[in-house]
Amino acid sequence: MANLRFKALEIAQSRQAIPVAPPAERVTDLYASNTFNQEVMRSLLSPEAYLRITQAINTGGKIDREIADEVANAMKSWAIAKDATHYTHWFQPLTGDTAEKHDAFFDITGEGKAIEKFKGSALVQQEPDASSFPSGGLRNTFEARGYTGWDPGSPAFLMDNGAGGKTLCIPSVFISYTGEALDYKTPLLKALHALDKAATAVCQFFDRHISKVTATLGPEQEYFLVDKALFYARPDLVMAGRTVFGHAPARGQQLEDHYFGTIPPRVNAFMVDFEFEAIKLGIPVRTRHNEVAPGQFEVAPTFEEVNLSIDHNALLMDLMEKVAERHNFKVLFHEKPFAGINGSGKHNNWSMSTDTGVNLLAPSSKPRESLRFLTFLVNVIKAVHDNADLMRASIASAGNEYRLGANEAPPAIVSIFVGATLTKALEDLENKSEISLSKGDNVYYKLGINRIPALLRDNTDRNRTSSFAFTGNKFEFRAVGGSANSASSMTVINTIVADQLTKFKVELDARLLNGEKKELAIVDILKQYYADSKRILFEGNGYSDEWVDEAAKRGLSNFKTTPEALGIYLQSESVKLFERVGVLTRAEVEARYEIELEKYIKNVQIESRVMGDLATNHVVSTALKYQNKLAETAKSLMDIGMTDEAEPIKDIIRAISQHVVAIKNGVAAMTETRKKANNLSNTAEMGMAYATEVKSFFDQIRYEVDKLELIIDDEDWPLVKYRELLFIK
Ligand code: ADP
Ligand code: MG
Repeated sequence: MANLRFKALEIAQSRQAIPVAPPAERVTDLYASNTFNQEVMRSLLSPEAYLRITQAINTGGKIDREIADEVANAMKSWAIAKDATHYTHWFQPLTGDTAEKHDAFFDITGEGKAIEKFKGSALVQQEPDASSFPSGGLRNTFEARGYTGWDPGSPAFLMDNGAGGKTLCIPSVFISYTGEALDYKTPLLKALHALDKAATAVCQFFDRHISKVTATLGPEQEYFLVDKALFYARPDLVMAGRTVFGHAPARGQQLEDHYFGTIPPRVNAFMVDFEFEAIKLGIPVRTRHNEVAPGQFEVAPTFEEVNLSIDHNALLMDLMEKVAERHNFKVLFHEKPFAGINGSGKHNNWSMSTDTGVNLLAPSSKPRESLRFLTFLVNVIKAVHDNADLMRASIASAGNEYRLGANEAPPAIVSIFVGATLTKALEDLENKSEISLSKGDNVYYKLGINRIPALLRDNTDRNRTSSFAFTGNKFEFRAVGGSANSASSMTVINTIVADQLTKFKVELDARLLNGEKKELAIVDILKQYYADSKRILFEGNGYSDEWVDEAAKRGLSNFKTTPEALGIYLQSESVKLFERVGVLTRAEVEARYEIELEKYIKNVQIESRVMGDLATNHVVSTALKYQNKLAETAKSLMDIGMTDEAEPIKDIIRAISQHVVAIKNGVAAMTETRKKANNLSNTAEMGMAYATEVKSFFDQIRYEVDKLELIIDDEDWPLVKYRELLFIK
């Protein structure tokens, strides 16, 4: 068989951009046209039902059976009018993918007549056979039942599966028969509820009109695109989502000419196409651009309420994969598909806003608001400081392990960047403790607090190397992995901030009972919080080696491996926190830990196997063939008396032999180590064995293979090279 690489290259190189017809409607008319949103509900439901449903969405009120029936009926008519034939509860099990099981609206009556049926009970609850979703031991296999339950906070939408019919997708939670969470959404909703309660209570100190606080999220999604034919010619991409071999191209990202550069036509067509689809589903995609690495791009939506934003991100990822097929691309969300080239993150921009329209992390020019701003800012800093390890745990995965600390992504150390202006303001807050606080608003002036806003408005300093960076009116959690479901990190952030705000309120209430003046007491508490947490603030280059040393001196954790990081979930402090805030029970925390750890082990195991197979069947076999050719050449030269001329060829033959031997030994040793790891009965130990022992062979084997790539005739090399994968027309 001819070299698959060349067949794939021929296909890939002949491809042109596939033009996308612009929609007949304006984008603004198209927006959310395939969603059963509040506007549609207002037009289709009775005023009573509409009121109840909006109450349920806004305050979490209960929806009774009659209302559910009415909503289901309206949803059914709406969906069928738009060509839907099936419905499904759409949920996010802990596999990391989205799940759906379609049921037809079609049913037959006792008289054998066909009708379209969808009742409130079917809308509210479904019972998928859950036995093959991960449960981490929560669900015994004999009790396979799991339930999905409608989340009215996220609008149902129509998914076009391309083949004619559409499916009505109903965003749902997924729980076990005994009520434990088996998905990402359930604990997230609980954390968001806790944050709302805690933050609203703190807002009450500043403004009695505030009755709700909503956490907001804008996830910037980075990804790579690879031609479909080239993708399938790389078994490692197919199996593991990343390349286990591949020598760096002569030209990588050193020229930095890709970032914000002109988007290649084929890519542009793909972007336009999936953006139209996204817009129809109410996903407010807004920004698109090239990223730093060749072949890497970004899409960013406008921020939304966290739960909705996460549903939208999960849906967007699905959509991108589907639309990519039409454009003969494969989308790689993996955190590190290519060695030596930037990986992909999902920067989680996060803030909190009130029902009075205030962003609680936006500085203001009014003194009273400034104190409120500082209250929330400092409480977030304290929360992250006290729970940095949990933040690290929330982003731990096999893929992100390659990215964190890889000199182009935030390190595994959690730190906060606030910028020079805020650093100064916080220092002022800490140091000016002796000021008398008797003259009303002067208090603020004397504290220097009122200086923050004016300066901040022009404050453009940015730090792209920080794991958790303040960016003017929000924090950006940059260490989240590109393929992750943001619910993990968002559950943790909102939980720890809720907990911290609750503690703050308790402290403040106690001081107020003691007769202290409110502003004085607040400033005093914040000062203390800042002093206690300031070691987590870091303004320098987070990618540098110096920071790793400095962080160690400061006593900040640096969990390099996923198993260590996941272990934090099990610590009693973590479990107590989740229980205290009402987000996860001990059993649920333990189950989650098991599931994430098992995913890690399986991923590393797959990579290790792919590596062994490719090294043996593709690389070594090719090397030996090429070596044989060289040997024949050398022999012919010697036959005609050109012994000296044969020497350099013999050198190459020797070099190949050395690499081949090193590869064979490396693969054999890795396989042995893997077998030993697999025999460990304790998953934590197995995880560590994979992280430290099995993985220790990866770089070693890769080094030898990548050297061979440079030696062996390009015509014979079987694996699509980096330069061929990365540069798209
Ligand atoms: P960057 O310069 O960091 O790449 P982008 O403009 O690409 O910035 O993305 C910033 C993201 O932050 C967008 O998704 C935006 O909607 C989001 N964002 C802006 N304000 C808020 C907020 N208050 N809460 C959450 N996210 C926000
Ligand atoms: Mg961006």
